[in-house]
Amino acid sequence: MNPAARPGIYVLWLRCTTEGERPIGRLGTLVLQPGYYAYVGSAFGPGGLGARIRRHLRKSKPLHWHIDHLRRVTDIEAIWYAHGSRSLEHRWAARLSRLPGARIPLPGFGSSDCRCATHLFHFEKMPQPFGEAVLRHLGLE
Ligand SMILES: [Zn+2]
Repeated sequence: MNPAARPGIYVLWLRCTTEGERPIGRLGTLVLQPGYYAYVGSAFGPGGLGARIRRHLRKSKPLHWHIDHLRRVTDIEAIWYAHGSRSLEHRWAARLSRLPGARIPLPGFGSSDCRCATHLFHFEKMPQPFGEAVLRHLGLE
């Protein structure tokens, strides 16, 4: 199978440079703040991660998921992904919530069909992709 078509999970890092309010479907209103939004999602449908990420890369498209509303007014800074099981999606959401500076901008965002408080977090500064312990281990810090 084409590796890009394999299923998996991902984190979209979206850079926001504006303030304002953005309605997110029926969920409520997101008060935009400059910084970075991290959104955790999964792609287990046809086309796998590749198809889903290509969709996120397009700014203009029908508004289907909560994230589509936010994507309209932000730019993609980075994408982390892994081929793995669905449960990893919720574990990553829990991990992100514990990173220094993590804030929940709108409870329920992206988590309508799971038990997580949210799949969207806001950070003023983008966290390092590798923890300090890893950087020390690699001698990079
Ligand atoms: Zn979840």
